[in-house]
Amino acid sequence: MPLSTISLHDKEFSPYLSANELSTAIRLLAQRLNEEYANRQPLFVAVLNGSFMFAADLLKEITIPCEITFIRVASYEGTGSTGHIQQVLGLREEVKERHVVLLEDIVDTGNTMQLLLEQFNKQEPASLEVATLFMKPECLLHDLHIRYVGLSIPNDFIVGYGLDYDGLGRNYPDVYKAV
Ligand code: 5GP
Ligand code: MG
Repeated sequence: MPLSTISLHDKEFSPYLSANELSTAIRLLAQRLNEEYANRQPLFVAVLNGSFMFAADLLKEITIPCEITFIRVASYEGTGSTGHIQQVLGLREEVKERHVVLLEDIVDTGNTMQLLLEQFNKQEPASLEVATLFMKPECLLHDLHIRYVGLSIPNDFIVGYGLDYDGLGRNYPDVYKAV
């Protein structure tokens, strides 16, 4: 049955990428990770909330020994001139000398990923890479090297498969874009 448009808050979203298209992209990422991290026992670090479905489906396709943990990036208003400050919460695992792969739902401006890479690099991992399901290359403001990209997309606002619009829409197995 063809998917129909959904409404979230005040916006309409039309079907954009099917669950099948997502799982093909994720399987390809997993194959590369299985090859490139064999014998390295990677520590996958999923960035909540957006990456929860991606992390679950990706990890089901990972067949090498690995660990998975979850973090959050909290934003709050700073008191100084810097304004918006972001902080990494929830990491308990020792990162030093580990092969770390950050799992993100989407890299847009790259601000979040830039911060995460800085924070993780301070802890001296043996290696540090990013696997993101979606990337908007047109929007990137930083010189970031994102090694594993599921799907590159134009500058549209998307929801579903973990991604939300003001709290809603994370539960859909397919991805929709704002119309
Ligand atoms: P960045 O720091 O790269 O600009 O953005 C990262 C965060 O912005 C993502 O983790 C996600 O929460 C949000 N974001 C960016 N683009 C989209 C989008 O198209 N849809 C949704 N739902 N969130 C987005
Ligand atoms: Mg995110």
